[in-house]
Amino acid sequence: MMNETHLTHHDADICIIGAGVAGAALACSLANEKLKVIIVEKDWREQDRIVGELMQPDGVEQLKAMQLEHLLDGYDAQRITGYTIMKDDTPLHIAYPEGKFGLGLTNGKFVQKMRDELTKGNNIKKIEAEAQTFIHEKGNRIAGIYCRDKAGQSIAINAKLTIVMDGFFSTFRKQTTEVAATVTGYFLGIVLKDCPLPFAEHGHVFLTESSPFLCYPITKNEIRFLIDFPGHQPPRKSEELVQYLHQHVRSRIPESMHKAFDVCMLEGKFKVMPNHYLPGKPIMQDGVVVLGDALNMRHPLTGGGMTVTLRDVNSIQQLLKTLPIETTEERMELIRVFYASRTQNTAVNILADALYKVMSNHDLKEACFNYLAAGGKQAEEPIALLSGIEKSKITLAKHFFAVAAKGGMRKVNKNPGIASMVDAYYMVGDAYAIIYPLLNNEVQNNSTKMWLRLGNKIFRKKQIAL
Ligand SMILES: Cc1cc2nc3c(=O)[nH]c(=O)nc-3n(C[C@H](O)[C@H](O)[C@H](O)COP(=O)(O)OP(=O)(O)OC[C@H]3O[C@@H](n4cnc5c(N)ncnc54)[C@H](O)[C@@H]3O)c2cc1C
Repeated sequence: MMNETHLTHHDADICIIGAGVAGAALACSLANEKLKVIIVEKDWREQDRIVGELMQPDGVEQLKAMQLEHLLDGYDAQRITGYTIMKDDTPLHIAYPEGKFGLGLTNGKFVQKMRDELTKGNNIKKIEAEAQTFIHEKGNRIAGIYCRDKAGQSIAINAKLTIVMDGFFSTFRKQTTEVAATVTGYFLGIVLKDCPLPFAEHGHVFLTESSPFLCYPITKNEIRFLIDFPGHQPPRKSEELVQYLHQHVRSRIPESMHKAFDVCMLEGKFKVMPNHYLPGKPIMQDGVVVLGDALNMRHPLTGGGMTVTLRDVNSIQQLLKTLPIETTEERMELIRVFYASRTQNTAVNILADALYKVMSNHDLKEACFNYLAAGGKQAEEPIALLSGIEKSKITLAKHFFAVAAKGGMRKVNKNPGIASMVDAYYMVGDAYAIIYPLLNNEVQNNSTKMWLRLGNKIFRKKQIAL
């Protein structure tokens, strides 16, 4: 319970915590509806971030479905039509499904455009304050939040439904989700200016003998680079780091980019972000819903975060527009239907962490590249999964095991004998160790879980830590 001194009170139907990708998009979708909405954000100024800058095609589709596509205009977002995977200077191009496109954009500008749009909603009130605790009512109902503004004033917001969307360091995680987030490594972000991208309109993944790095356009003149640093220590700005980036990144990008790379190193504008894994396991309770990174995170290698978030926003805004939220029964029904709808959305989650682990395993990385290079459905279906357009976990599992099986067969054919057969078996085992915990976290069905456990017994060599 908060100190009641200087307490200002507000009432709303919906209280949204956080005006990032999730919160701002949800508030925009509810503008001028009958519901009275209060959105609380700790800092309404435009942010300079390295996250959320490649929107996969299904993210674009979700905005279209909510009639919010115009929020992608006006800040030089760049069309992305597919991916190029660079391995040993060999480019492999894979186009997104026909007629679909993604966007490279500046996250701060995208979010700010949504925040500006909110002022058009006569039912929406913006408050600048830091949300601190829930207001609890008898029967364990959450009836809103207490927050504190920059002047230190306490504010109480009473709401029928509180929607927690305060991002990856959520203040409310312990009260809203069953599991804690784990850090799986770090991305260092830099921007190269005024130089050509190796392949226009493409997201790029550079496979190296150690960890991968990515690049894609975020404006006409700017290319975002994200460089992976596995482990538990964030990279620190130092001469050693600059040396590493020279050896690891500069040596692999085309010469036409070197000048821009050198300018970037001299300026030293590096930003580092932790990458998290958090399976979406919400605690069901009256009066509160959690979504976005506050609920669920996956590795950013595949740029799937905004897509999952916008799908969830699309689902909940439809429910809020159609279902009542007056009584406990009505609210619990909405909450149950919303979380149940999420289980359709999570192949992208599994793909993100599975692919990241594959990229860290020499044999599986080779096998994956060869598999995609064969083209046809072997490239089309995986890119459809990455784009978010294909959502089936079965399609994902099918391709994942086919990569390992074909990679194993390649080994045996190249060097027939017992040793290569054992190697091939271990390769499938490695693949299983990667995907088992991820699938197990995402599937609900008990018989599927039983088959997964059986496979784990057969193939288990070692459990891959997430
Ligand atoms: C390095 C990295 C790169 C990424 N790249 C991509 C990518 O290319 N494509 C992609 O789709 N996804 C990417 N993601 C994931 C993506 O950024 C997130 O999934 C997405 O931003 C989630 O949106 P959100 O609204 O939940 O959180 P956020 O966008 O982080 O918004 C949370 C908001 O809540 C506010 N807030 C926090 N605490 C409080 C509080 N107590 N009170 C009030 N307000 C509060 C914050 O100020 C912020 O505005 C990346 C992630 C990382 C780590």
